[in-house]
Amino acid sequence: MKICTTCNKEVTDDYVEFKCPKCDKDIIIRCGHCRSTAKTYKCSCGFEGP
Ligand SMILES: [Zn+2]
Ligand SMILES: [Zn+2]
Repeated sequence: MKICTTCNKEVTDDYVEFKCPKCDKDIIIRCGHCRSTAKTYKCSCGFEGP
């Protein structure tokens, strides 16, 4: 089970997953909704991205 980093909802098939560009450690998961509304995400290292 994967959780969207932004809204903390469970994601199913419509999501993207990538490593944090700053710490290269944490995995960022964004659901389709947060992507289409361009919400920011925040990594545990403090990095915030579009
Ligand atoms: Zn989301
Ligand atoms: Zn990070």
